[in-house]
Amino acid sequence: MTDEAVQTPFTPPADRVEIGARIDALMPQVLTDLTEIVAIPSIADERVVDPAECVRAAEWVRDAFLTEGIPVELTETPDGTYAVIGHRPAPAGAPTVLLYCHYDVQPILDEHEWLSPPFELTERDGRLYGRGSADCKGNLVAHLAALRALRADTAATDPAAYPVGFVLVAEGSEEQGRASLDRYAEANPELFRKADVILIQDAGNFANGVPTLTTSLRGAVDVVVEVSALEASLHSGEFGGAAPDALAALIRMLATLRDERGDLSVPGIPTDQVWPGVEYGEDAFRSDAGMLDGTERIGSGAVADQLWARPTLTVLGIDAPRVVGAVAAIQPRAAAKLNLRVPPGADPAALRDALIAHLHAIAPWGVKVETSAGELGHPFSADTTGESFTLLSDALTDAYDGVATVTSGGGGSIPLTNVLAGINPEAEIVLLGVPDPESRIHSTNESVDPNEIRRIALGEALFLQRLGARA
Ligand SMILES: [Zn+2]
Repeated sequence: MTDEAVQTPFTPPADRVEIGARIDALMPQVLTDLTEIVAIPSIADERVVDPAECVRAAEWVRDAFLTEGIPVELTETPDGTYAVIGHRPAPAGAPTVLLYCHYDVQPILDEHEWLSPPFELTERDGRLYGRGSADCKGNLVAHLAALRALRADTAATDPAAYPVGFVLVAEGSEEQGRASLDRYAEANPELFRKADVILIQDAGNFANGVPTLTTSLRGAVDVVVEVSALEASLHSGEFGGAAPDALAALIRMLATLRDERGDLSVPGIPTDQVWPGVEYGEDAFRSDAGMLDGTERIGSGAVADQLWARPTLTVLGIDAPRVVGAVAAIQPRAAAKLNLRVPPGADPAALRDALIAHLHAIAPWGVKVETSAGELGHPFSADTTGESFTLLSDALTDAYDGVATVTSGGGGSIPLTNVLAGINPEAEIVLLGVPDPESRIHSTNESVDPNEIRRIALGEALFLQRLGARA
C-alpha cells in the first residue's frame, strides 16, 4: 500500500536527528528485549499454558520498566492475572502520559503452520517472526526504547530524566476478552485520571512505512448458539431423511446471516454506513488479506466502509464431529460461536439482541435453540481535534522521514479505550502501534518489521519530548 504514502521533501528537525541517532544505537538492545519477551509463552489461558509463564512475563516487564525509572509493580486484576502498573509523577507543570500495551499473547493455533518455532524470535527476509512479535510485545519494546532514548545518559532515578510524567499499564490478559483491566480501571479510577494523554499502543500502521493513528474502532460481542433436536445421535441410514438433524438446522440458520452477495442480512442490523476517512485500495486489500486468485471481496460498498464503518459477523467455530473419525450418524446437537463487530454509531446491545432474535426466529423444524452472549465491547471514536493528536501526528511524520500521518479505522476492538474515556473524559486518547498488514496478528507466522518498531519508538520519543517542552 505504499502508493498511499504522501511524502514531501524532508529536512529532519534537530531533535529528530538527535533522538533518531539514539534510537538507532538502541536497536540491538530492542531486538534482545524482543527476543527475551517473545520467548516467554504468555498466553493468559491456564488450559493452554501454565499461569507461571504469565507471571514470568509480568516480572520481565516489571524489571524492564523499573530499569527505566518507572516505579511499576505486579497488580492483580479481577481475573487473577497481573497487570504491570506504575506511576512516575510529572515534573512541575508538565503533563502526564499513560503508556499502554499488553504482554499476553494469543494462542499459537496450529503449531505445524508456523515456519519457525512461535516462541523463538526468528528473522526471515528482514521481518521478525514469533507470537506476539507485533501484538503487542513489539509495542512493549518500543515503549522501552522511547524511554531509553528520552533519558539518554541521565540516570533513570534522576527526577529530571523525563520531561513528562508517566502512568504505565501493561495488561496481562487483553487477548482473552475478559475485560479484567477494564474492571480494575473502573475500581481504581484515580490512577487513570492522572493522565492528560493516553497512548494506546495496540493498534498498527495502515501500510508498512505509513504512520497511522487509529481514530475509530469497532466494538464486538460473541454469541454462542446451540441447537438440539434429538435425545441422542441416530444411524443416518435408518433415521436419516425424517429425523430432525441439529447440524443441518444450524447450517441453515448460519446460511441466513448473509445474502448471496455477502452482505449481512439480519433484520435490525443496518449495513449501509460509509467511512469518511482514508480509502483502502482494492488491490492493497486483496494483497493484505492474502486472497487467492479468483476469489471476490464479499459484500457491497468500499473496503473502508466494510472494515471500519459497518458491522460484520464471523463464524468463529462450530461444534460438530471432525471429518476424521466421523461416523454415519445424525447429530442430536450442534453449536456455533459467532463474533459480531459493531461500528461507532451503533449500539452493540441492540445489534446483539437483533442477532439473537433472528437466530430464534429462523430456526427450522422446531429444533430447540439456546443462545448466550459474552461481554459487550463498545465501539470507539477518537477526538482528533486536540493538541496532542496534532503533536503526535507531526512527531510520527518526522520519525517516518516526512511521510504524512494518516487516520484510519481499526478492525479490532479495544474495549479499554471506552472505559478510559468514561473515567477520564478530559484525556486525549490516541491509538497507534508497530504492526503492519503483513504482521498477521492473531494468526500463525505473526511477524513485525523491526523498522516499524524503530520508527514508532522514535515518533513516541519525539512526541514525549515536544509535549514536555511545551509545558
Ligand atoms: Zn493486542
